[in-house]
Amino acid sequence: MPTESTFLFAGLLFLAAALGYVFARYGDFEEDDAELRESARANFVKGFRHLLNEEPDAAVEVFTRGGELNEEGLETQIAVGGLFRRRGEIERAIRMHQNLLDRPGISRHQREKARFALAEDFFSAGLFDRAEDLYLQLREAGEYRIAALRRLLRICEVTAEWDRAIDLCGELLRIGGDTVPPAQLAHYYCELAEEARKQSDRDEAGRLLEQAEAIDPGKVRCALLRGDLAADQGQAAVAASAYAEIARVAPAMLGDVLPRLLRTVPASGLGALLGEITRTPEGLRGIALAVIRDLRISEPAAIECLGRFIEQQPILRDLAGAEFPAPAATDLRRQAIERVRKALHQLARAGTNYQCADCGYYSSALQWQCPGCRAWDTVGAADRLLFKGSPV
Ligand SMILES: [Zn+2]
Repeated sequence: MPTESTFLFAGLLFLAAALGYVFARYGDFEEDDAELRESARANFVKGFRHLLNEEPDAAVEVFTRGGELNEEGLETQIAVGGLFRRRGEIERAIRMHQNLLDRPGISRHQREKARFALAEDFFSAGLFDRAEDLYLQLREAGEYRIAALRRLLRICEVTAEWDRAIDLCGELLRIGGDTVPPAQLAHYYCELAEEARKQSDRDEAGRLLEQAEAIDPGKVRCALLRGDLAADQGQAAVAASAYAEIARVAPAMLGDVLPRLLRTVPASGLGALLGEITRTPEGLRGIALAVIRDLRISEPAAIECLGRFIEQQPILRDLAGAEFPAPAATDLRRQAIERVRKALHQLARAGTNYQCADCGYYSSALQWQCPGCRAWDTVGAADRLLFKGSPV
């Protein structure tokens, strides 16, 4: 199994090869430059030896030593600093890149390169205010403009500055950078709408929601928020209609939607609605999972959906007992369902109800943006229990 040192060694070999190429490529020098080149080469070899001997501080000392800096020396420092950053040795990376930035007489292009590398170090370390200062300087013009704007956008997501995030999307669009996906932009409006809802500013929440819907039509989050806004105003029928639509198109959301449906759908219509949702295997699984996860759900019609699901699964039928009671044996059946429900509830460990499809991050509540990898719309009901093939 490769160790951390293996990765470092591989990184260094790559670096050596890349820099060897650079040295070779610029091999024809004026006489004045030849001395500078020779000293840069000697410095590189010395610093590289320290890295191989696992003497990183000595390597930093050699690479950041004063004296004139040519293009290759700059590339070396940027690359070695990046290597430190990837290894989590942020202080060393910062020393390397700060040293470059502090040097007088380097070109504008070199300064921007060093500034971006240093900003990346601060960003990796979670020092967002310091990273932001540097990205703001790079935002104005130059090679790193778009990359800096994208990093600023990421910082806004972490600090929940959604207004500013929307402005940055506009700026990216104006300067012709690769645009932000509409689904992501619509989330920013949804975040603002949720903030307005928390402050009981329903008009503002509705206005922001309309903007989100216009940007990303059919967005599940918008339907959920529209239902919640209607429920806040006592419009149970409007809310129930929004929630029912989510149950139809996104049954994996039933863990969040079923409790809302049970609060807003009149008892007289519940049986028919659950019957409709459970016509598909995904709908039945979604309701079964919601009933297992939330032990507060006590509506017989919802619990009976779990009963139907158990009947279809041999493993769960075994868990329920030798013979799973038929619907006619109401009390016995209810007791058998509850036994399975409690056993599966224990299996669904606390804090693992949701999982990111991209990075595997677990969370206890629904997240529109994964806290682990920051991707949008990748966190869903952790489905290892009931959603993939056979249960458990
Ligand atoms: Zn993730």
